[in-house]
Amino acid sequence: MKIKLLGKNLDELRQIVAQEGLPGFAAKQIAQWLYVKKVRSIDQMTNLSKGARAALSEKYEVGLVEYKGLQISSDGTKKYLFPVSCCHKRRLNAGCDGTTAETELETSAVEAVMIPDGDRATLCVSSQAGCHMGCKFCMTGRQGFHGHMSAADIISQFIAVDESDRLTNAVFMGMGEPLDNYENVMRTIEILTADWGFAWSPKRITLSTIGVLPNLKRFLDECRCHLAVSLHNPFGPERQSMMPMQAAWPVQDVIDLIRQYDFTGQRRVSFEYTMFAGFNDSKVHADALVRMLKGLECRMNLIRFHKIPDFPYETSPDNIMENFKNRLNNQGIMTTVRASRGEDILAACGMLAGQHEDR
Ligand code: SF4
Repeated sequence: MKIKLLGKNLDELRQIVAQEGLPGFAAKQIAQWLYVKKVRSIDQMTNLSKGARAALSEKYEVGLVEYKGLQISSDGTKKYLFPVSCCHKRRLNAGCDGTTAETELETSAVEAVMIPDGDRATLCVSSQAGCHMGCKFCMTGRQGFHGHMSAADIISQFIAVDESDRLTNAVFMGMGEPLDNYENVMRTIEILTADWGFAWSPKRITLSTIGVLPNLKRFLDECRCHLAVSLHNPFGPERQSMMPMQAAWPVQDVIDLIRQYDFTGQRRVSFEYTMFAGFNDSKVHADALVRMLKGLECRMNLIRFHKIPDFPYETSPDNIMENFKNRLNNQGIMTTVRASRGEDILAACGMLAGQHEDR
């Protein structure tokens, strides 16, 4: 099995060209072919000599994962299905260099969603096949965990979609908890923001998390991208009944950590709040949120809940959401109701399941 070049950063490409006896500058040339010109094969890297291409091709391949399914919503949202191969090493966080024998790989599938909005085209990407976190309102959480996606798998979503050259923004809000697959997600962000890579500003990228505390601190220290936190309830026991990981990483501790960082400049923090009728949409909840977030420069996004099977709650009615929004806005928390996109193709928040013929 060949090693994928995709997902390698410049330092790793330098090591590869040194091992293959190629000149040092070839590393930057390969990065350009991978991340700017987005070629599908080593043979297309035409400013490398024929001999260099042949030598590289013996051990390496580009390794782009092409999408295998596409659904288009009546509102223009597109949902792409990607096959991913998960190995037990990735699942155990034991490190995987992409050379695990094919017989040991398990096939799974993830989804990426492209959301058009005027001049903007935002890609919502997945970072894991399934998810460990077990949030009860989420179709991804329902299916359990199948494996971490490699950086090659994650970056493939950006290259393989039809809109690759006109994407304006990215949100790590698809399948999986990005801070549970820290190394591969950070490697992807490095490729997206480096001048030898996609050369995007970090302002174009938002990472969404339930608040995996140790890695959240690393993220806040190491990365300048925007942060979104899945809050959903200000009261610990109620939040834990929907989000079991509240027991490990209480939301109050997450807020206390976030308060130690500056969000008055370019980096923003926002909170996601899915509204369940009769569960978390009362005035008491709104006022508790105000107390919890007082003085923090942040935004709140209220999200309609999309009904999933065997789950007792419905979304809050529009008038309740409006009142909740106004109550937060009136007390200084900048709040909007997020428009629901791609509901008819099961592409909206919490609906991604990686529909796959094996599943
Ligand atoms: Fe995982 Fe996010 Fe779903 Fe929770 S909401 S189960 S963290 S994908």
